[in-house]
Amino acid sequence: TAYHIFTPEQAMRFADEHSELFGEHSKLSAAEFGDGNLNLVFRVVNDKGTSLIVKQALPYARCVGESWPLSTDRARIEAEVLQLHARFCPEHTVEVLHFDRELSAILMEDLKQYDILRTALIKGKHFSHLAAQLAQYLAQTLFYTSDFVLTGPAKKAAVAQFINPDLCLITEDLFFTDPYCNHERNNIHSLIQPRARELWQDEELKAEVAALKADFLSKPQALLHGDVHSGSIFINEENCKVIDAEFGFYGPIGFDVGSLMGNLLINYVASAGLFSDPQQVLKQQQYLLSQIQALWQQFAETFSHLQQTATQDPALQNERYQARFLQQVFADAIGYAGCELIRRTVGLAHVADLEKISDAKTRASCETHAIELGRRLILARQNLTSIEQLLALVQTLK
Ligand code: ADP
Ligand code: MG
Ligand code: MG
Ligand code: MG
Repeated sequence: TAYHIFTPEQAMRFADEHSELFGEHSKLSAAEFGDGNLNLVFRVVNDKGTSLIVKQALPYARCVGESWPLSTDRARIEAEVLQLHARFCPEHTVEVLHFDRELSAILMEDLKQYDILRTALIKGKHFSHLAAQLAQYLAQTLFYTSDFVLTGPAKKAAVAQFINPDLCLITEDLFFTDPYCNHERNNIHSLIQPRARELWQDEELKAEVAALKADFLSKPQALLHGDVHSGSIFINEENCKVIDAEFGFYGPIGFDVGSLMGNLLINYVASAGLFSDPQQVLKQQQYLLSQIQALWQQFAETFSHLQQTATQDPALQNERYQARFLQQVFADAIGYAGCELIRRTVGLAHVADLEKISDAKTRASCETHAIELGRRLILARQNLTSIEQLLALVQTLK
């Protein structure tokens, strides 16, 4: 089983070989339907409609082609992050059924009963359980992989298990570097060119982004998912589940929390252009702010409770230290949320929340809002000490 790129037929056999789900004589069919940037995703279905997903890493980035080589080890990282996160939060992590290292292929449950969060938010759908469930996911997965629990050699081994140079480099470039200079990879709509140019001269902002990048490079606090955007979250009326952990590595806890906050804020700024009824815009924005508030409150509450009851390292059982740690996670999260707002408008990878706005002037006004809000968050992050202060700042802009 040396590595080869799956045909639908081969993905089908892979699924059948490694699962009992389809039974003995079922007729299977398979099709590739991935809409992501990097990998192949197949759905394998039997004649009763039972289905599984096969995801395979290509030795290059799917959206660019062979000119952008990428290690297929990212499939191992994805499978192992998901398996570890599932130990700590199985209810909100997609279930991995089998992983083949040679083939860089993952067999997993099909979340066909769920919608992608980004798509749902763009349609104006609201879920009251979103924040509470994702707060649990983030608090459990990040706490139990952190120094509070893993001590000495166990922590070093865990960090080494998740060295992820290729995908970290993508984030290092696209998230922290390109948007703040005139880089050819940037994707800037013509109406916001002048605003983007101002970013490149903004030395005060660039100093803060440098500090956030330095932390991303050198603060291995916990095993991050690494790509918690609203396209990596599946949701329905009862539950939500996180997929696509190939960017996982040991990094700053605020990065995962802030990526999610940033994606909710992107929808917040985009909603003014997505909905024509001002009442609907208001309702959408109020919903998103209430979810951001609940996300932080419940994340902090759970994380703090775990610090107090499950910390293994005796020195880290110090309560003052624990409170200070969480306060810094808050500041980091706000900074990374700000970076996400900026990179999704100026950088290479845009998101449908903004791209769906068909009128170019309206979209530009939302994108300018995203940049302004991102900038304010990055600059103010160390001075915001409560979630209420963050929400007040968001509401003072437009
Ligand atoms: P990439 O790493 O290339 O971004 P993703 O893991 O995000 O790939 O998957 C791309 C798309 O494939 C998702 O947006 C979704 O439509 C589909 N998909 C991936 N995993 C599942 C799953 N477990 N169940 C249902 N659909 C899935
Ligand atoms: Mg079988
Ligand atoms: Mg994806
Ligand atoms: Mg991915």
